[in-house]
Amino acid sequence: MNKHLINHRPTEELVQLNADHHIQPFADGAITKGKGSRIISRAEGVYLYDNDGAQILDAMAGLWCVNIGYGRPELAEVAARQMRELPYYNTFFQTAHPPVVELAAKLAEITPGDLSHVFFGNSGSDANDTNLRFVRHYWAAMGKPSKQAVISRLNAYHGSSIAGTSLGGMLNMHAQGGVMPGIHWIDEPNWWVNGGDESPEEFGLRMARQLEEKIRELGEANVAAFIAEPIQGAGGVIVPPDTYWPEIQRICDAYEILLIADEVITGFGRTGNWFATETYDLRPDIITVAKGLSSGYVPISGSIIREDIAAAFAEKAGPFFHGYTYSGHPVAAAVALENIRILEEENIVRTCAAEVVPYFEERWATLIDHELVGETRQKGMLGAIQLTPNARAKAPFDMPGRAGLIVKECGIENGVMCRNVKDSIAVSPPLIVTRAHVDELLTKVTKSLDDAMPTLKAEGLLR
Ligand code: PMP
Repeated sequence: MNKHLINHRPTEELVQLNADHHIQPFADGAITKGKGSRIISRAEGVYLYDNDGAQILDAMAGLWCVNIGYGRPELAEVAARQMRELPYYNTFFQTAHPPVVELAAKLAEITPGDLSHVFFGNSGSDANDTNLRFVRHYWAAMGKPSKQAVISRLNAYHGSSIAGTSLGGMLNMHAQGGVMPGIHWIDEPNWWVNGGDESPEEFGLRMARQLEEKIRELGEANVAAFIAEPIQGAGGVIVPPDTYWPEIQRICDAYEILLIADEVITGFGRTGNWFATETYDLRPDIITVAKGLSSGYVPISGSIIREDIAAAFAEKAGPFFHGYTYSGHPVAAAVALENIRILEEENIVRTCAAEVVPYFEERWATLIDHELVGETRQKGMLGAIQLTPNARAKAPFDMPGRAGLIVKECGIENGVMCRNVKDSIAVSPPLIVTRAHVDELLTKVTKSLDDAMPTLKAEGLLR
């Protein structure tokens, strides 16, 4: 027996108990009870091991978060040490503790521009709730209480709380439980789906200008903020055309609205710089961080706010009636600090960007040669392929999402964990991947595309 698995029950028992008692996120309960869920029991470096010991290359770094890779003992040691010293204390009511202070200062140091003040949370979702409450209260405190509307984009993902869902633009989520008032959505810069005959550059400009139209329609006096992911992750790794972000920044500068860059996925090295804000030369007023902040080892998130906004808020807003019991949790803060220390000292962001990303770019682009692939998208260590039955016609499949699922499941069979977003296959590997891992990824993804063909034909999805 594998020595690592001795503490676990046999897989069938775990699958059964899971079906009997666990409601899983973004999962279909009927499938959990029928076919069952896969049980991942261990991970090391860039590999997952299921409960039967099968090795799977984790091309998704968990859920876009394990930037540093699995199994770093330093993080476990820091967590244990902090638990012994101060396992919990809150940060409410003018109290703080060393790890949260150190982490806030460190984040101010490593984030670009004037971003300097952090409000901590436990997830990307609750950080975006914080952002919504913050910007509305900020404008009220600045004597502009009508500035309450927030503009977002269709197919954006900003979390799964009611504010996160509402700020996001996932219509299937909106349909379950509804959305809050006061959020407005413009189109996403998704050239493959919406670009038609326009060049990506023309399309990018047109999409960005929708922001200006929406501000005018709602009235500048009523708009608090625009929120967007620099690259949409959960929406399918939508890398905007080069013209998009400069135009958005111009519009944000021209009107008195705040720009919230949701860097939950793109932060901490994902796009080749520490933050995508640098990659795209953005000047956000707030960035949202989570995931890579602790490489997913413990839950922690933050809303990082620009110096002058934080200063005005402190001066004029009075007490902010907002906070979570675990805001700036000492164990999470200590682990995040250690994660950042390792990323810095081992030069992981720079090494990945300089030595592996160009190779990943070159290899990932070759997937366009596969007959199932219509577009390859890539930025830093983030990539996707768009599956299509007919690339020239940019055709969608008759049963949207089915082909993506089939390819993803072939991937697991072949020992690679990707993510299917409708009919895209997304990857976001740990930043510690080597060129050899990139080769392994490409071999396995290509084989999975090949292996999916007979099923796609049998199901009538390929004409
Ligand atoms: N924002 C973005 C851009 C995300 O990708 C996610 C999670 N995928 C969230 C917010 C929500 O984060 P969490 O799941 O930690 O609530």
